[in-house]
Parts: sequence; structure tokens; C-alpha cells
Amino acid sequence: MLCPCGSKQSYVNCCAQYIEKFIENNNRLPELPEQLMRSRFTAYALNNAHYIFATYAKASQSQQSIDDIQEWSSQCKWLELIIHNTSSRESDESEYQFVEFSAIFIHDNSICEMREHSRFKREKNSHNEMVWRYLDGNILKNEAVKHISRNETCPCQNYFNKQSRKAKKYKHCCAR
Ligand SMILES: [Zn+2]
Ligand SMILES: [Zn+2]
Repeated sequence: MLCPCGSKQSYVNCCAQYIEKFIENNNRLPELPEQLMRSRFTAYALNNAHYIFATYAKASQSQQSIDDIQEWSSQCKWLELIIHNTSSRESDESEYQFVEFSAIFIHDNSICEMREHSRFKREKNSHNEMVWRYLDGNILKNEAVKHISRNETCPCQNYFNKQSRKAKKYKHCCAR
């Protein structure tokens, strides 16, 4: 399976390193905010609310619940992540970094785009190591871009992470 984050690598060689090994690696997280962003999108696509919750900065975790994250991530079909720009650099000792991205997803029979300028914070994990976590973001756009009719080819076929040979109609694919 190709990684949902759009890196064009296999899931195993990409975000699985963080998501699947999160516990055995003692909460090892990606070294750059952009990678963390990608792995969080992948976790949404795979409906892994525990990982999403754990990658929120401490200050934001108190406003989040695993159940709410789970509910939202499962209501959407996550199609694509677009990274527009990032201040993410290696060997940056600053406390905050930024990533601007769009998440493209199907919700309520529409293709939707949410564009956000997100802020990541460097903080200590439970092993006293500095890690990047997602703090908050400014939502720049959050809207339905296109309505999907039941008989059209499902939009998910246009995205890399779906490798179906036979084009299915929306009503037989991602519609609910
Ligand atoms: Zn990935
Ligand atoms: Zn589909």
C-alpha cells in the first residue's frame, strides 16, 4: 500500500515507522514538523485516533478527546495531503515551526478542502527528549469544493492511494 500522506513511498517505509511503532519506539516521533504533519494525515486516513491524540502538544491535548477524533476521522474519506510550504528545517532549535497544508477529503457527499497554517511546538516527551508536536492552526479555507453525484465515478479513483483497476461509481464506493 502506498502511504496516504502522498510521499510516493510505501506505507511501511514511510508513516508506519511512526504510527505502527509508536509504542515500541518509546513514543519516537518524526524529527521534522512536516513529517509529523504527514504522519498525522496518514493516521486520519487509517482512523488511528490514538496516534493523532498523542501527537497533539500537551497544551492542546486537554481540549481533545480520542472519541471525537475517531468520530471525525471516520466520517471522512481522506484523499490527499498537499504541503504548500513549511518553515521546517533540520537542526532548528526554535520552539515553534509552521507548516501550511491542504487536506482533501470526502464528507457529506462532497469533495472538501481544508487549508491550514499550523503551528508545531518542540517540547519534552515522557523520556525527557525534545519532540515536535502539533499545537494549533489558523484555518484559511474549509469548504465543499464539489458535490459528488451518486452515479459518477468515485473521486477516490483519481487519487494515488486508491489502486483500483475498475472504476467504481460513487454509490458503490465511498458513498455512505
Ligand atoms: Zn507517509
Ligand atoms: Zn471511492
